[in-house]
Amino acid sequence: MTRFFDNVLELIFPSKTKCIVCGSDLAKQNPLCVCSNCEKTMPYIGGKLCLKCGEPILKEDFCKRCKLKSFSFNVARQNFFYVPPISNLIKKLKYNNAKYLAKPFAHFLAKNYYELGCSSDIVTFVPQDEHKQFLRGYNQSKLIAQHLSNIIGVKLFGTTFKTKNTPSQVGLSYKEREQNLKDCFCLCKNVNVSNKKIVLVDDVFTTGATAESISKELKKAGAKEIVVLTLAKSKFST
Ligand SMILES: [Zn+2]
Ligand SMILES: [Zn+2]
Repeated sequence: MTRFFDNVLELIFPSKTKCIVCGSDLAKQNPLCVCSNCEKTMPYIGGKLCLKCGEPILKEDFCKRCKLKSFSFNVARQNFFYVPPISNLIKKLKYNNAKYLAKPFAHFLAKNYYELGCSSDIVTFVPQDEHKQFLRGYNQSKLIAQHLSNIIGVKLFGTTFKTKNTPSQVGLSYKEREQNLKDCFCLCKNVNVSNKKIVLVDDVFTTGATAESISKELKKAGAKEIVVLTLAKSKFST
């Protein structure tokens, strides 16, 4: 019901859309909310990508990592490199309550969803531990997932929860991250993912350890397909 009134209000008093990067008024309605000047500075990931994890590569079909390791998710895609202005915007959503960014972010994710030709049954997100969510008041991945669910018309479900408070992953290798996340995500009660095609949403993809950890649980519970969509890819060196 609230959404209905929000939509009516938006029709009567449309909010002026501003560029999410420079804040200038947008000349025409654009769901991605980036002006033509800033568009040129956006660190888009393009060219040839690893068919599995979305890593930019020069030749062949899979990156070095995916040749050695088989991820439980079917495919992962990211729109941007995690550098300014995208890295700053993600931090704003995460730490500065800039919830208005979740919707344009979701439109970027939807671009990859359509480009991959997905037809999923469920949209889900990377959960946060309760302590963090209590401090922040919201889960930024869930906010993006909610908007993506509205845009692509696929139902949103929380499918996993975090069982423990993990230390920061920054500076850890893939192996260390994997260890860090061991038994960290559990399937929610009363969630049936059996034979379901799932979109898993997060803000940043680094080694893929988080996405892998959740995907493993979802596949164990019978999920048919998992597509991991994140806004940015963070550079990672082992
Ligand atoms: Zn701009
Ligand atoms: Zn790869």
